[in-house]
Amino acid sequence: MTNNIRVRIAPSPTGALHIGTARTALFNWLFARHIGGKFILRIEDTDLERSEVKWEKDIISGLRWLGLEWDEGPIADAQNQKSKIKNQNYAGKYGPYRQSERLDIYEKYLKQLLEKGDAYYCSCTKEELEKERNEQSERGIAPKYSGKCRSRKVSEADAQVIRFIIPEEKVQFSDLIRGDIVFDTSLFGDLAIAKGLRVPLYNFAVVIDDFEMKISHVIRGEDHIANTPKQILLQRALGFSTPVYAHLPLILDPDRSKMSKRYSATSLEEYRKAGYLPEALMNFIALLGWHLSDDREILSEEELIQNFDLSRAQKSGAVFNVEKLNWLNAQYIKTADEGRLLEIIKEIFGEEFGNLPLTRKLIASSRERISKLDEFKDINNFFFELPDYDPSLLIWKNTEPERIMENLRVAREILKGFLLDEFDKANLEAKLMPWADTRGRGEVLWPMRAALSGKDKSPGPFEIMDILGKDESLRRLDIALQKLESNN
Ligand code: GLU
Repeated sequence: MTNNIRVRIAPSPTGALHIGTARTALFNWLFARHIGGKFILRIEDTDLERSEVKWEKDIISGLRWLGLEWDEGPIADAQNQKSKIKNQNYAGKYGPYRQSERLDIYEKYLKQLLEKGDAYYCSCTKEELEKERNEQSERGIAPKYSGKCRSRKVSEADAQVIRFIIPEEKVQFSDLIRGDIVFDTSLFGDLAIAKGLRVPLYNFAVVIDDFEMKISHVIRGEDHIANTPKQILLQRALGFSTPVYAHLPLILDPDRSKMSKRYSATSLEEYRKAGYLPEALMNFIALLGWHLSDDREILSEEELIQNFDLSRAQKSGAVFNVEKLNWLNAQYIKTADEGRLLEIIKEIFGEEFGNLPLTRKLIASSRERISKLDEFKDINNFFFELPDYDPSLLIWKNTEPERIMENLRVAREILKGFLLDEFDKANLEAKLMPWADTRGRGEVLWPMRAALSGKDKSPGPFEIMDILGKDESLRRLDIALQKLESNN
């Protein structure tokens, strides 16, 4: 299906990819994929001091990891259709997609505004502006730029900034999520739109790019809502049409303050490193401010695309509940392909983490019990190395140590009688359980399990032995017996 729906994610590469940006990207992507429109990535790197290539890389790799491929963007690679024009490092008709490469375009429109008298050079310095603001505050009026350079005929050489004349009126727009919104622009003051003909500022560059890139819907965070009337006024002055706006609710911490590092990690990379699966994170983030009419919580990518509907987005803030994320991730880990889990475990812990057959066995035994893959090592460490433990760990409730030792000795003899290729969970269980039942399950199974794991919590003894194999299992029972014997 082809249509004119075009949306974009426009991150500034001034820091690691934030969960909030990932959510905005996901909503745009879902919107486009649901309706058969295009999803565009634009890098807003006009803030030269704060923009860094490493952050652009982080953003791009994070979006890819989440599975949000874009149709047009700054990097031409195998997945994107390469531009036909030689040496162009972007894919798509409306590039470049990096603002720092679009300076000619901005200059053209800045000149147009200056020539029409909709913008002017302003020579006011920071100090003068501050003084003006202080005086206004003292007189009890809301601070705003007085517009004194409007009539001053400042030359380009003397200018600090280029300002756009804000018409004083009520600007109204209809937000897809928040409904009709009206701003009184008489409170704004003339807007700085560039520091020079080739140094555009955010509100200006974004208007030019959204127009030039034929963006039909601007879906972005609520923190941009106050920018919208300014952008609409610029669009009018330039004779552009206005896209449809949708402002997503803020993401909040559990105490309903704006999401901060105090409660949970804010960068996508941290979630990746902690062993969250991208599909679980996508599912979780999609529900930050949006839900299905039947409130289903586990939704595949296809289900999200099929059901996505911005009119179901909420206006109020969306609380980032990390317990819910952990629960969701645990559900995904339970059913994920083993090969993928193996890959992620290697990515987190390094190639050397266990030999492959053992790691596979461990995945099978622990995938039901972990909520993030970075727990995998901690809960499985005892397989690789028996931790030192206190002999008291081996004692089941009030059982006498002698009796525990007796049980461990009998268990050891039974295990010794096993052929190597019969030493598996089912056989071990079949042989040992009837005997354990005659002694009392707790007093047999607890010390065995404790001896095999050295921990107070672990999988059951048969499962551990299956993974450890006969020799290592016997070695661990011997260690336990030595501990009890030397303690007695
Ligand atoms: N570069 C802006 C940001 O990262 C984009 C805002 C917008 O979507 O208009 O917040």
